[in-house]
Amino acid sequence: MRLYLDHNATSPLADTARAALLQAVDSGPLNAGSIHADGQRARAKLEAARRTVLRSLGVTDGQLVFCSGATEANNLAIGAVATSGRPLVVSRLEHPSVVAAAESHQVHGLVVRWLPHDERGRIDRTAARNVLQGAGLCALMAANNELGNRNDIDAIGALCAELGVALHVDAAQVAGRWAWRVPRGVSSVSLSAHKAGGPVGIGALWIAPGHVVPALHHGGHQERGIRPGTEPVALAAAMAAVYAAPDPRWNALEAVRDAIETVLGERGAQVNGDVSSRLPNTLNFSWPELDAEAGLMALDLAGYSLSAGSACTAGSIEPSPVIAALGLTAQRARGAMRISLGPEHAGLDGAALGAAIAGVLEGAVAGRAAPTLQPGPRR
Ligand code: PMP
Repeated sequence: MRLYLDHNATSPLADTARAALLQAVDSGPLNAGSIHADGQRARAKLEAARRTVLRSLGVTDGQLVFCSGATEANNLAIGAVATSGRPLVVSRLEHPSVVAAAESHQVHGLVVRWLPHDERGRIDRTAARNVLQGAGLCALMAANNELGNRNDIDAIGALCAELGVALHVDAAQVAGRWAWRVPRGVSSVSLSAHKAGGPVGIGALWIAPGHVVPALHHGGHQERGIRPGTEPVALAAAMAAVYAAPDPRWNALEAVRDAIETVLGERGAQVNGDVSSRLPNTLNFSWPELDAEAGLMALDLAGYSLSAGSACTAGSIEPSPVIAALGLTAQRARGAMRISLGPEHAGLDGAALGAAIAGVLEGAVAGRAAPTLQPGPRR
């Protein structure tokens, strides 16, 4: 028996998504670009999925561009400012698909300004005003995948609106799990299906009316030319199924997380991130005198799947860029591990789980568990 505690990396396929996916793939060929009856059937399915996702976000206008996931959506969104001649504002706590996209355009002349934050990863809103002045675009995630920190999108959005700066929001860790509406004044939003029980390989970029996002790829007219390539109709249908009806158990995780946190804290863990504004399923902590690699290997052997930093940086012994950016002590940064719960954990005995995890980690410190397991394949 294993316990999967890594939902911020990916959440297992939900029954609703599986049913929609199978129904679609079994319904026949699905090329929404074909003009015959089969193509029209595919088109109808795709447009129904699009309407469903839009409705779930509380928006009636703008474009929803299906793509492979939030990595691609973030890259598309950052492209909107690349040739504008105006600066881009991001923080070091954004997902690598935002930070690396920013840096790649920086090489070609884009000015990138960094939003300051404190040791808990809270954006410094007073400093933000100066940094945003004259910028073309600001990218800010709704919630951080590693720390669980929720950013105050309304406040930064108001500032951006006042200063005439477009705002891109990466909602990969929020939309589809909890009822999440696009806040007023936002220019674009990244979505990912697999964080919410949808299949891996599908996500979307929502683009507000009047906001222009250039294509990254060329060669087709699909998705209004912004994301050419035959549309993944069955994946879109499965994404729509989870966005239409988020699993209510996502709302029942805070007490479980808090119980785990209390026990780990009593046994010496240090909690990382902004405990006053966090996703209810996420707990990032450091264990005294233990590197995350050793801790995670011991936990893996004991049957617990969790991560250090984001899965995208797993396999490296360095703290993830997000943890490194917090400015914690070197030991605390090297020790940062993340528990991220999902629907199947609603009602779980968090105190017992916390005690079990603490026992494994204490054993690892004492050398009782052999941290000799080689890191597994990159996830
Ligand atoms: N943004 C955030 C906040 C994420 O957590 C992730 C997944 N780690 C992504 C973007 C990338 O999403 P995808 O896997 O759909 O490309």
